[in-house]
Amino acid sequence: MRSLPPPSDTQASVFALCLGATADPGLHARLAGIAANLAGAGVTYQLNAVAASLHLVPRVQSVGAVAKTELIGLYETHLSKTDGAARAVYDRIRNAAPNNRCPLCGVGNVAHCDHHLPKSRYPDLAVLPINLVPACHFCNDKKRAKYPTSAGQQTFHPYFDEHLLKDPWVRATLNSGPPPVLVFDTDPPSAWSAQDGERVRRHFDACGLAITFTTNANDELPVVRDRLILQESRGGTAAVQQFLNDERDIHSTRPNSWQYATYRTLAADAWFVGGGYRTIP
Ligand SMILES: [Zn+2]
Repeated sequence: MRSLPPPSDTQASVFALCLGATADPGLHARLAGIAANLAGAGVTYQLNAVAASLHLVPRVQSVGAVAKTELIGLYETHLSKTDGAARAVYDRIRNAAPNNRCPLCGVGNVAHCDHHLPKSRYPDLAVLPINLVPACHFCNDKKRAKYPTSAGQQTFHPYFDEHLLKDPWVRATLNSGPPPVLVFDTDPPSAWSAQDGERVRRHFDACGLAITFTTNANDELPVVRDRLILQESRGGTAAVQQFLNDERDIHSTRPNSWQYATYRTLAADAWFVGGGYRTIP
């Protein structure tokens, strides 16, 4: 997971672009008639995102005289469509993640803008910039139309939830096998609120992070084995321990990356440090 600064594009500027590009006079008039409603929905979203209460944002089927399909159509016609009037906004949001790294998993490459609250349930938020976050194919596909019905069901929001990334809560467990395998789950700090603990568990499950992290970490193990054999030949078990400690510490700036969880677990495992790494196939 990675936090990101919120988009600089505003609700008002994006809605104006969509409205300006709406050729149908009837739809244009009906959209103009709900401008204040959509602005209000944007303010409600912002307040609830800051307060970690997005589950309280109301789900709607229409706004005034504008139907859900027409609101979703604004997004599909003017934002995500390649030649849409607000496509530059979509591109700015999608491209905002440093090194194109998905903020929801920290592993995949960004491919889409994901509606944090899905447009199928919240069509009044379909073109709200702070409801759009860059996401990789895998996270986008896993999350689909999930939405929170309680405070604990709120998944990690890259623009508002930096506090959820400060302490480590991704846990790697080493099964010695043979062959040795790392498995991932969550272990939120005991000092955290029950709500924050439930939130990171929900995020971990909603984005399928057990799969993503397990795949990447176990793919790395043969490389770890070869490095540790080299370290052992140079300085014995002490050098092996030092290498694993260093890797753990280097990755500690991202305490919920699979890399930090992996090296924290390996460095603390006496069997692994004492030569268990040699059994990695
Ligand atoms: Zn992802």
